[in-house]
Amino acid sequence: MKKGKKIYEGKAKIIYATQDKDLVIQYFKDDATAFNNQKKSTIEGKGVLNNRISEHILSNLSQIGIKNHLVKRLNMREQVIKLVEIIPIEFIVRNVATGSLTKRLGIEDGTVLKEPLIEYCLKDDKLGDPLIAEDHIYAFDWAKRREIETIKKMIFRINDFMIGMFRGIGIKLIDFKLEFGRIKSNGKSDVILADEISPDTCRLWDSITDKKLDKDRFRKDLGDLIPAYTEVAKRLGILHEQSNVSAVNVTKLSSIKKKSK
Ligand code: 5GP
Repeated sequence: MKKGKKIYEGKAKIIYATQDKDLVIQYFKDDATAFNNQKKSTIEGKGVLNNRISEHILSNLSQIGIKNHLVKRLNMREQVIKLVEIIPIEFIVRNVATGSLTKRLGIEDGTVLKEPLIEYCLKDDKLGDPLIAEDHIYAFDWAKRREIETIKKMIFRINDFMIGMFRGIGIKLIDFKLEFGRIKSNGKSDVILADEISPDTCRLWDSITDKKLDKDRFRKDLGDLIPAYTEVAKRLGILHEQSNVSAVNVTKLSSIKKKSK
């Protein structure tokens, strides 16, 4: 598949056109940002790991009937995805209170929620992705009621599946962010899961030690982000358990292989 023009560049990914108008290439960068772009860095190998982890989770979700944008992974950093019209809402799903929820409401960090909580944020970097009420979505026509109903059903299934998947590998799924997009199929508009699901977009704590295995290592200056993401990938069975090859080495290896072809 030939990579065409860059059509969008976000904080962690770039989208390129392809010769097929319905498909685009999603490239995972090594850039890390936090606190509405105020903190920035480049962490070599992060994009490679997120590409693999997101591919793994989205393919598993496909198998349980969650329609999503993933078509196939192309290489270490790129995947072919369906072009969607992104709904301008970040859907935050919480199982345990932490992060902005605890700050906003004074809830004790680590409080296990009785049931999953969905929050909505407007996707707008200039405004700092503000929290909104569900009625704002309808008041400003950011999505239709039936779309949000469909999305909520998908979210609960995704959350159930992901809690189980991570529990099986000794990880607690604390919270995560999802994005959805519209796609035209047979003349009808359908809503599918889009973006990525990775340690950049989830909070993942080791079940026994509560060690953070996600982007909070960057946000909170805890260090060792690549070893943490690699640990997640290894436990998911994406990287071999015995392998000591770091993502950085994987990146270098792949470029050496490409050059020598
Ligand atoms: P919080 O609102 O506590 O900062 O984040 C809740 C969850 O959503 C966390 O898992 C966090 O990683 C994810 N999340 C919220 N907003 C964003 C965002 O703009 N980018 C990314 N990568 N994750 C986000």
